[in-house]
Amino acid sequence: MAVLSDPAAGHRRLVLLLATAGGIVLVLAAIVTLAVTLTFSSFAAVVRPAGIFLPTEEDGLIADDASLSVDDESHPALARLDPALLEALRAAQVAAEADGIRFDITSGWRSADLQRRLLADAVRTYGSEEVARQYVATPETSSHVTGQAVDIGTLDAQLWIIEHGREWGLCQTYANERWHFERATEPGGECPTPKLDARG
Ligand SMILES: [Zn+2]
Repeated sequence: MAVLSDPAAGHRRLVLLLATAGGIVLVLAAIVTLAVTLTFSSFAAVVRPAGIFLPTEEDGLIADDASLSVDDESHPALARLDPALLEALRAAQVAAEADGIRFDITSGWRSADLQRRLLADAVRTYGSEEVARQYVATPETSSHVTGQAVDIGTLDAQLWIIEHGREWGLCQTYANERWHFERATEPGGECPTPKLDARG
């Protein structure tokens, strides 16, 4: 009992108790911080479209191994195109057909979600957003999202439109995308010089 009544020993016990309590508080704070961090990072992964978003036809998705003709107007990729662009493509297709050329459309209108997904995929492919942006525009800047662009799959059709498309106002608008066409001049006009790439 002499020890318990020793004021110095009591003080040491109090210090030990406070130190232990302080340690427990620090450990709990660390656990809470970790839990909150994990919760929010997994939450972000769920809500971020690139994480779980699975694009469908409703987003204008055309499967990698598929393409549309100018007559597949029930597909949202064509149905939501600028009507003037679709009309120009159809008229050009009639003329191209005489040369044995079929326009195989691999992309047309795209939802902003699909565009965001394509950009995220490109960032993974190219390793940086800076390089990815040379090939894939943002949802805010993409002419696919506004329905004013189509991509054509085969080389002969691409070359045909590059040579003759201006008769219907159809122009290659990016120098590094031989497949990407927009209405960029009046029918019969001169196409503007293509921009260097999708960064605009
Ligand atoms: Zn394109």
